Amino acid sequence: MMSGEIILDGSRGEGGGQILRSSLALSMATGRPFRIHRIRAGRKKPGLMRQHLTCVKAAARVCSARVEGDELGSLALTFRPGPMIPGRYSFSVGSAGSSTLVFQTLMPALLTTGSAFEMTLEGGTHNPAAPPLDFLDRVYLAALRRMGVSAAISVERRGFFPNGGGKWTVAVSPSNALVPLHLPERGRMLSQKAKVLWNRIPPQEPERARAHLSGSLGWDPADIETEEAVDSPGPANVILAELRYEHITEMVTAFNPFGATPEALCEGLMADVRRYRESGAPVGWRLADQLLLPMALGAGGSFRTMPLSNHTRTNIETIGLFLERRIEAREADGGSVDITVPAG
Ligand code: AMP
Repeated sequence: MMSGEIILDGSRGEGGGQILRSSLALSMATGRPFRIHRIRAGRKKPGLMRQHLTCVKAAARVCSARVEGDELGSLALTFRPGPMIPGRYSFSVGSAGSSTLVFQTLMPALLTTGSAFEMTLEGGTHNPAAPPLDFLDRVYLAALRRMGVSAAISVERRGFFPNGGGKWTVAVSPSNALVPLHLPERGRMLSQKAKVLWNRIPPQEPERARAHLSGSLGWDPADIETEEAVDSPGPANVILAELRYEHITEMVTAFNPFGATPEALCEGLMADVRRYRESGAPVGWRLADQLLLPMALGAGGSFRTMPLSNHTRTNIETIGLFLERRIEAREADGGSVDITVPAG
């Protein structure tokens, strides 16, 4: 491992919260301190928001870090990690901020300890611009399970944006030796299912979504489920499409906190589903950025993905700053990209 403090410009690349979250994970795992300035400088509300601050405080607690600048709105932060202590933790975002992003900040670093850990998280479980809890379990953790991680989620209640208020627990036991993950192709399609998750909205809306999906969008009615999310303290209006293949599961989500018609919501979902289907790549563009950290800090591997997002590029760059290993990205057929992550 390299040593010495890393200096980061938070406005580079994707320029959002991810560069901070990835730096926290890498710092915890490598023991290297970092300083980041211009945090989310280009965003409408720059600086640390509640979700980012929860990530900083949670990371600091797990590794007894010394931190400066850990305040709401802060544009600069210094993080000096100590040794990680795996165990049982509870973290609350204290608002509808995404709790899944807090988990994803800590998980790849804690995996490197080789010890079991458990986390209870409170906050949003289904937020636009964050992995929904269903995605976390069925897609992200499903891929990590193939790396030798055993992880089980139990949900007390779901919390949908904008109200949040979810609570869930995840118990993780890494295997003694993580194995490389190789995902060159999808394999055969096994199933495709859509789920309309709703609560406290007019009941005809989920029915209209179901009708539109099975009517003009051609989804088999037998593969559409509607579920009233009675556990959620606030309204819910989300559609999830799960595409299962032999080697990978992808999940596309359409969120509707702001009153689009059910038909418009379905159209948006289907546009994303088509984009994934037509790309032929096993790893979707969102999973791609999320897999890099657990692979780089674990046993490495390779995968084929869709054209790279800014999040993926930024993660490749951030990982390169902390680790001696370089992640390779090569253009492949039809706009796909082959990523190779060397082992740690
Ligand atoms: P940021 O924009 O920096 O807060 O990062 C957002 C993170 O959430 C990235 O890792 C995205 O891949 C992930 N993400 C955003 N929307 C979704 C979604 N609908 N499904 C899965 N992951 C998502």
